[in-house]
Amino acid sequence: MTASTTAADLFARLPPLAADGYATHEVMNQATPFTGHNAFTGDRLLGEIATREKLGWARPLLAEAGAVVASERVAELARNANRQTPELRSHDRFGQRRDEVVFHPAWHELMTLAIGHGTHALAWTAGQPGAHTARGVLSYLWNQGESGICCPLGMTYSAVPALRLQPDLAAVWEPFILSQRYDPAAAPMQRKTGGTAGSDLRATQTTARPASARRGPGEAYLIDGHKWFFSVPHSDVFVTLARTDRGLSCFLLPGWLPDGTRNRLLIQRLKDKCGNRSNASGEIEYRGALAWLVGEEGQGIKAALAMTHLTRLDFAIGSAALMRRAVSEAIHHVTTRRAFQRRLVDQPLMENVVADLALEVEATTLLAFRLARAVDDEAAEDAAAALLVRLGTPVAKYWNCKRVVGVVHEALECHGGNGFIEDGPMARLYREAPLNGIWEGSGNIIALDVARALARTPETAGAFLDEVRRARGGDRRLDEVTRRLEAELAAPGEHEARARHITERLALCLQASLIVQHSPSAVADAFCATRLAGDGAVAFGCLPSGLDRRAIVERARMADDADA
Ligand SMILES: Cc1cc2nc3c(=O)[nH]c(=O)nc-3n(C[C@H](O)[C@H](O)[C@H](O)COP(=O)(O)OP(=O)(O)OC[C@H]3O[C@@H](n4cnc5c(N)ncnc54)[C@H](O)[C@@H]3O)c2cc1C
Repeated sequence: MTASTTAADLFARLPPLAADGYATHEVMNQATPFTGHNAFTGDRLLGEIATREKLGWARPLLAEAGAVVASERVAELARNANRQTPELRSHDRFGQRRDEVVFHPAWHELMTLAIGHGTHALAWTAGQPGAHTARGVLSYLWNQGESGICCPLGMTYSAVPALRLQPDLAAVWEPFILSQRYDPAAAPMQRKTGGTAGSDLRATQTTARPASARRGPGEAYLIDGHKWFFSVPHSDVFVTLARTDRGLSCFLLPGWLPDGTRNRLLIQRLKDKCGNRSNASGEIEYRGALAWLVGEEGQGIKAALAMTHLTRLDFAIGSAALMRRAVSEAIHHVTTRRAFQRRLVDQPLMENVVADLALEVEATTLLAFRLARAVDDEAAEDAAAALLVRLGTPVAKYWNCKRVVGVVHEALECHGGNGFIEDGPMARLYREAPLNGIWEGSGNIIALDVARALARTPETAGAFLDEVRRARGGDRRLDEVTRRLEAELAAPGEHEARARHITERLALCLQASLIVQHSPSAVADAFCATRLAGDGAVAFGCLPSGLDRRAIVERARMADDADA
């Protein structure tokens, strides 16, 4: 060795390794990675919905989002954001309270991307017909990319109607929360380029009192009390309910005050959740937190209702999206993995399973987007659409959130052992699947809301049935089930105890109607046979003979899946 020896000289002394010297075993018969397709342009059903709903104006944006959510990069970000979960920094090193939540950088990158697409905002900013539907497509895409971020995005979207009940507050806060420039800083809004809204609509333990001699809409109040579930506690602003001496009231509460200090919102701890782990959900204590009253005191329920149907719609969309992602993954996996000398998808029983799952994706997606359009039509003051929204939103929320759990489980099982391993996305989707069913009212509460809508606004039944009857004559099984549903709705009965049953019947009839109107005959035939006429079974994968299973699978396959 001399002083002039270089690294190149050193490595030149090492003999070359045999080509396979690094491998410990031969890697064989593994599925190929499933990235690089476009979750919008590759999705035939979504493309048809976009055409039918005249979303041409949004297509370039949706195609861009579709490429991003299906990219290798987002897969990696989602993985990291869920493995290194948010941490509460309650105090600084000198013992001063901070109440900050620290995230892995992947979270912020995901938020930057999704907010950049307007996933939280498009419905309010586009100024185009079908804006809620187009935003729904963005939500459908991002719920496939990473569900955790969809919580703050959905809450921000649905906060706007409540905010608009108090125009002076909306004038300041609406442009801020609808900004497409994500800013992760824990700082007052005056120092940020954009922010997100959180919401808490459970008020039993929170009270409010005027902060000065002035009380009334837009005035300052002090809020006290505990919130047991409080997602995204690092939000810039919160729509929150609290009780004054005049009743349940709605408030807008900033996360930080203009001098840079935290509002009096103390984060007790973050929840250690089953899924949705990238997102922070906490328990908090308001201790004299400053907030503005939204609308009149005692009108809190009105404000909550202004938001609720949008959050519920977003959960119906989000659950359909989770199924879409899981089933896309399953179809890809069974196409590129072999067993018994054939591709799995060519094994008749596996073909049956994925075809049955694909039916569920089609039905739940059509249902969710029919309601999204109804929200658009309602905004254009269509009275029938408003009735459909009132009854159909809880129906879609209930049913999509019920179906997602079984679908994701079965799609995971299509992957065999690999589905259970955290390297891939399936385990994460599985943990996520039950959550939308709990949020914003779990199953019974939603079914009871359906019963309430039918009892208090009976016209909703007529509007719903009119919608179902659009497919009249298209399939005798649907006609028969619709007749039975009409009779059931007309009969006085034990509606509370049967609320789940009625909700399920409503969902299946509307799904079938949409499928008969819009989907290929192979899909319609299989859906009506198994979901309406009793030829199905409790588990997936029991489609009867005589159906075109392969056509159903091929329709659900991402059109641009390179390995198919
Ligand atoms: C991770 C996470 C984050 C959350 N974040 C937020 C948030 O940011 N903001 C917010 O406002 N909330 C939040 N929540 C709360 C969530 O909306 C509630 O947990 C949900 O609405 C269910 O309410 P609960 O927990 O009080 O259950 P309960 O109301 O006690 O319900 C328990 C069970 O009883 C059933 N049930 C209740 N009443 C009846 C009845 N009359 N008849 C028959 N069955 C009934 C329910 O369907 C459910 O199955 C969050 C929850 C979770 C898990």
